[in-house]
Amino acid sequence: MLICIDAGHYIGTPGKRCLKSIDPGETREWTLNRRVADKLEAILAGYDCRTMRVDDVTGQRDVTLSQRVAAANRAKADVYLSIHHNAGINGGSGGGIVAYVAPSHQKQSEVVRDAVYRYTVASTGLRGNRAQPLAEQSLYVCNYTTMPATLIELGFMDSTTDTPIILTEQFADQAAAGLAAALVEVYDLQPKGGGQVLMTAVPAEDLTVELVDRPKSECGDNCANAGYFANYSEGGEPFTLPVGHLVADYNASGKWTRHYCQERGRFQGDKFTFDSGGWSYANSLHGKAISTLLISGGKARVEEIRTVPEGTDYAVSGIPVLRGGKACTTAQAKGQGWDASPLRATWHTLVGLKGDGMVYVMGWQSRTANLLDSGEAARVFRGLGFVDVLKLDGGGSYYQSRDGVVSRTGENRRINSVLRWTVREERPELTEDRVRQIVREELAAQEAKLANAPADGWAVPYIRQAVEAGILTGVDDGQGGVTIARPRAHTTRQELATMGVAILKAARG
Ligand SMILES: [Zn+2]
Repeated sequence: MLICIDAGHYIGTPGKRCLKSIDPGETREWTLNRRVADKLEAILAGYDCRTMRVDDVTGQRDVTLSQRVAAANRAKADVYLSIHHNAGINGGSGGGIVAYVAPSHQKQSEVVRDAVYRYTVASTGLRGNRAQPLAEQSLYVCNYTTMPATLIELGFMDSTTDTPIILTEQFADQAAAGLAAALVEVYDLQPKGGGQVLMTAVPAEDLTVELVDRPKSECGDNCANAGYFANYSEGGEPFTLPVGHLVADYNASGKWTRHYCQERGRFQGDKFTFDSGGWSYANSLHGKAISTLLISGGKARVEEIRTVPEGTDYAVSGIPVLRGGKACTTAQAKGQGWDASPLRATWHTLVGLKGDGMVYVMGWQSRTANLLDSGEAARVFRGLGFVDVLKLDGGGSYYQSRDGVVSRTGENRRINSVLRWTVREERPELTEDRVRQIVREELAAQEAKLANAPADGWAVPYIRQAVEAGILTGVDDGQGGVTIARPRAHTTRQELATMGVAILKAARG
């Protein structure tokens, strides 16, 4: 699949620029076209397709329209997308996005035109007032390309309503995401690397939320960062506080963390509840119905709530990705008060429900610049059978540890809360044969380490634990050590200690 991208014009094309009265810098159309084209190429680099540019990407050379068309035809590109910005309003208001095909066109050109229009309007929110935003027009690059072709005008450079918007970097990001999403849909492009999802299925009753407020690598095993937060520092003590709803076991140690948690939320024993509907200061989520994972009575559900309902055992809020099987948009997320910046291409923690009683805790690396509006997240998680999916973090906070295997992004950022799950293994019955087998395996595994170690030193705490657990009988020697009584057969102290370790491991499951 070869996608030909044409950023219209070059830096020196006469007249093609923003209206001075609106944009004193008179930004050149080429600059805007190129910016979107570059971003589009960057997004498509994450997909199983190739791209080519037929403009001079430095903007210095005026590549003619016939040269552009000839290059695309020669390369046998599968689709041709020409990116422009419009003019013709002369300082009035209105405008919007317009997309064209040639009067004599392949049916597929219309499919592409309609998709790029639909997706860019959705991603940018730039609603125009053109009578015919989907049009046919005799344009050289559409007329003479041999593959399906469309030309899109991404808003007006001389409109008081469009121009301030199309000049922003954010608009270019959104426009590129929309164009990419359209191409992904029409040509069923697949993310490179298969878009692997790390997934742990946890029975809802085995999942807890814990407020830890500590660097992410110090959160222990079988947990994942969960929940958006804000960073603070007081008296030299850095700490974090939640911004969305949170009902969690409180396991933080900092003085100021507790002080401000008491101020903003409520404690019932070690259970802490932050109801973002009850805290308005510097909280953009205040009073909004925000998507929240709720666990009560061992059952999990997702709801949009303004305030935490009574009887909630655990709760954590997140950016909605899928709700009731439907893809969520950036506009929806912003409507709940979320900052949309963590939707970029990076690692994310997500939590998903399929209606099977399990909560799926997931790590996923998105490829697109806006995982919602590009349709990427919806495609991935609908494909996995999810009904509801929330995004609980992104980028610097991402951290997951499962059975000792850690997946994380680089910095060791302080995080606020984690989802923690208990691991239940089938526990084999502890017969004497089973114990002997464990001891043999354990000894083999530790042979090198233990071979020359005097047993007394390292063995004592294990023996003590085994005695305390009632597995061995022992007598306290009154000097901090334990004298073992009654081994069943001739056994070295080292073997006995290792047996103690092994039994304890097995007993703990
Ligand atoms: Zn143009």
